[in-house]
Amino acid sequence: ERTEFITFFHHVIDRFEMNVTSDITLKRDLSDGTYDVWVDKDKIFQVLDNIISNAVKYSPEGGTIRFKTMKQQGRLLVSVSDEGMGIPRDKVDKIFDRFYRADKARSRKVGGTGLGLSIAREIVEAHNGTIRAKSKEGKGTTILFTLPLMNTKRRGA
Ligand code: ATP
Ligand code: MG
Repeated sequence: ERTEFITFFHHVIDRFEMNVTSDITLKRDLSDGTYDVWVDKDKIFQVLDNIISNAVKYSPEGGTIRFKTMKQQGRLLVSVSDEGMGIPRDKVDKIFDRFYRADKARSRKVGGTGLGLSIAREIVEAHNGTIRAKSKEGKGTTILFTLPLMNTKRRGA
């Protein structure tokens, strides 16, 4: 369905803001304009839910999670950054593999199946988007994904 992404993203972040119990700050740097995308909203919610849950899960007390949107080469670029422990450089591309969990010992403590990001990648790619991660050990992680923007001149697609 046609979805204005910025409004949708604000709603998703609002939900997290209400439910986050730990001492984490959520900062939004979302575009003012409208960004129409053609998406399965439930599925894209699942993508955001996993990325943001990870960011919360791996954030230290007092950490900040930053949300950004921008237009890049005719596409919508969405990013979620945290100030968590990060992911080793040689492991960062593996986090989208099924059942992959970066650090077995520490992952056991925080829990999870290691499926979240592989599902997120499947969903984003099914929408003709791309997803990747940037991370610095000890500094934090950014997950970025893109979605094709709808042509605003031709309505009713
Ligand atoms: P699930 O999402 O199924 O509950 P999970 O969160 O462990 O489990 P993924 O979301 O697929 O699985 O993430 C895979 C692994 O990537 C995680 O176990 C963790 O090691 C690493 N990871 C993902 N996001 C972050 C992040 N924001 N900071 C640090 N490590 C991360
Ligand atoms: Mg996860």
